[in-house]
Amino acid sequence: MNSFDLNIAKFGGTSVADFAAMNLCADIIAKNRNTRVVVVSASAGVTNYLVELAHKALTQEQINETLERIREIEYRILNDLKAPASLADKLNGLLNELGDLAHHEEVLHQPALKDALLSMGERMSSLLFAEVLNQRGVAAQNFDIRNVLRTDSEFGEAAPILDKIALNAKELIQPVIGDRVIVTQGFVGADEQGRTTTLGRGGSDFSAALLAEALDATSCEIWTDVVGVYTTDPRITSAARPLPELSFEEAAEMANFGAKVLHPATMEPALRKDIKVFVGSSKEPEKGGTWIVKDCQNEPPYRAITRRKQQVMVTVKTPKMMHAQGFLQRVFTIIAEHKISVDLVTTSEIAVSFTLDNPSNSVAERLNRETLEELSELCEVIVEEGYDLVTVVGNNMHSAAGISAKIFSAMGEYNLRMICYGANPHNMSFLVSQKDSTDIVTGLHKKLFE
Ligand code: ASP
Ligand code: MG
Repeated sequence: MNSFDLNIAKFGGTSVADFAAMNLCADIIAKNRNTRVVVVSASAGVTNYLVELAHKALTQEQINETLERIREIEYRILNDLKAPASLADKLNGLLNELGDLAHHEEVLHQPALKDALLSMGERMSSLLFAEVLNQRGVAAQNFDIRNVLRTDSEFGEAAPILDKIALNAKELIQPVIGDRVIVTQGFVGADEQGRTTTLGRGGSDFSAALLAEALDATSCEIWTDVVGVYTTDPRITSAARPLPELSFEEAAEMANFGAKVLHPATMEPALRKDIKVFVGSSKEPEKGGTWIVKDCQNEPPYRAITRRKQQVMVTVKTPKMMHAQGFLQRVFTIIAEHKISVDLVTTSEIAVSFTLDNPSNSVAERLNRETLEELSELCEVIVEEGYDLVTVVGNNMHSAAGISAKIFSAMGEYNLRMICYGANPHNMSFLVSQKDSTDIVTGLHKKLFE
């Protein structure tokens, strides 16, 4: 038990993009004595560069150019900081480590090297941000999260090992936070052999929630560049408005179905330990934000609309499926063995279709050739791209009268490729053509919220 209400604060890439942005984060930390653990993302843009270095076959020249862009981002912060030479030495050490990894012959082929490379953004931003805090008079210590955040060895999308994380956090972080604020890396972990792992794109939110769970925190703040979670992505329609509160379930659904503000797994630790989660803008903290809590004041049938882009639909077909037993099982065994997570599924007598996420900037490729080959041995396989998934998130959607009629009336003229309704009381999802999705979300938003 903590003798105070421990708060974990996580700052996203835009919040730690440069020295000025970092200072606004420092203000937020300085104002709340309960914030003792700070989790940071890589400075904006850095992870995208690192993903290129880890995944693309670049020329030596392109590698050097990309490294130079990263160095510029880090050095701008360092120079504004007027930091002691010892900090420059440490940063140069990390940049050298990064350079070696980027030029490593095997980096495109060895997942462990990729993750070591991908972790460098957070390792640099946390080093610099700890110094920002110290210069502001908040005693802070940069902490290597690989000593605490134990994961499996699924590089690129590693899963946390909760009991080990709790033990490590209590041993290594708990005793320190009484007199210093810990500044540590999001997104990064290490497996049992001590090899660096990463939690998947956007994983810093998840890191913060995992640490909140391990340290029995009361709250976990996710500071980003938007004033909370919105009824829909404000970049889709300007009519979107921030939500003052959300339930854990609603937030988890939203994150799962494409709301970019939160990493999908973030709500799991919060739910397990009933830790309230706040989402707000580090640029405008005075505007408040969204509180995500166990019990909300109200549970409206519709709360928000999300969109997830770049969905792939796979259809497997076989005439043999008629009256055949075990076909579905064999299909899903292959999918599971390749660790592909499936979202929507529809079945008919001779075909099964399912959708999966295939974002272009993800760390691990979802649908690879091997999976398709194995499926093809079993049946005919059709892969279709160019879809988006639109989801309405709410409560008791399957039982409240008139809900589906209202939603469908907004979708009248569009071709819905797949519909998922009724399996879960918190959502209703539609697979639609990419070219229609903006209009569909805008129309739905008007019907449901305006
Ligand atoms: N830096 C990582 C990314 O861009 C993790 C994060 O920001 O949460 O995906
Ligand atoms: Mg993020």
